[in-house]
Amino acid sequence: MLPRDTFAGQVVAVTGGGTGLGKAIAVEFGRLGATVAVLSRKPEHHQAGVAAVEAVGATARAFGVDIRDPDAIADAFDAIEGQLGPVRVLVNNAAGNFPQPAEDISPRGWRAVTDIVLDGTFFCSTEFARRCQAAGQPGVILNIAATYAWTGGPGTSHSAAAKAGVVNLTQSLAVEWAPTGIRVNGLAPGLFPHEDVPVQMRADTPEGLASLARTIPAGRVGQPHELGWAATYLCSPYAAYLSGHTLVLDGANWLRRGLRMPDFVPVREQFPPRAD
Ligand code: NAP
Repeated sequence: MLPRDTFAGQVVAVTGGGTGLGKAIAVEFGRLGATVAVLSRKPEHHQAGVAAVEAVGATARAFGVDIRDPDAIADAFDAIEGQLGPVRVLVNNAAGNFPQPAEDISPRGWRAVTDIVLDGTFFCSTEFARRCQAAGQPGVILNIAATYAWTGGPGTSHSAAAKAGVVNLTQSLAVEWAPTGIRVNGLAPGLFPHEDVPVQMRADTPEGLASLARTIPAGRVGQPHELGWAATYLCSPYAAYLSGHTLVLDGANWLRRGLRMPDFVPVREQFPPRAD
């Protein structure tokens, strides 16, 4: 869709870029000429992200960071600048999640999810913006949300609340930073199974995939590279006047609610108690 040199000479940082959708996004930026910085905690994810980007002929490096720690984020940005150059596009993709009835979520579990999703997005975004502003350079931020940011949903009280915060933050930061040339947008994926999600959410068999597809108006799940296509467009110069918007990419799934819905299943039956 975009010219192959759309991001040539630009450093794109993707949090959680070594697995699943973050890796797919990183690959599409690499395909369009970006040098990619993969930010996450685990070495095995670093290797996977770098290898995937290098496989399309682009340069990638991984940087170890826990995005809950603002000092570690500053160190990671220093390291990226030293090795690759200043970051021009930041994709806040990293997240943590575990579906559970709200009354079973411990304070530690609540904080783990909200710290990564909401606080981590804020800390990475402000570190990025301060550096762009100090250098007098424009920048682009893309926040990966989820459609339950608007609806809430059973078993996801922590993640949905944090994603709602991310959508709202996208709007505040877009207004605050537009005068300094920083655009801030969001992208809300629907159902995008991939090899890195827990087994129960995968669609490894044709029957599993068909059963997931039947739940979606478009008749299929999303392909991770399609998220990468949308991400690269939103961060490209072709979206130069677009800021403060969160784009839903879900085959119209979150709008399918009708007056007559399938039988209601209580949250406790959807997500039985965990062994731990
Ligand atoms: P995933 O495979 O579980 O990836 C999460 C990534 O976040 C991992 O690479 C992980 O890397 C990183 N991460 C987690 N905690 C971190 C921390 N404290 N510091 C730094 N990195 C951290 O998830 P995914 O399915 O690809 O989802 C990607 C994004 O899309 C998320 O924002 C998710 O909420 C959103 N989303 C996904 C779907 C879907 O269908 N898959 C649907 C809606 C929304 P390390 O473990 O190496 O730190």
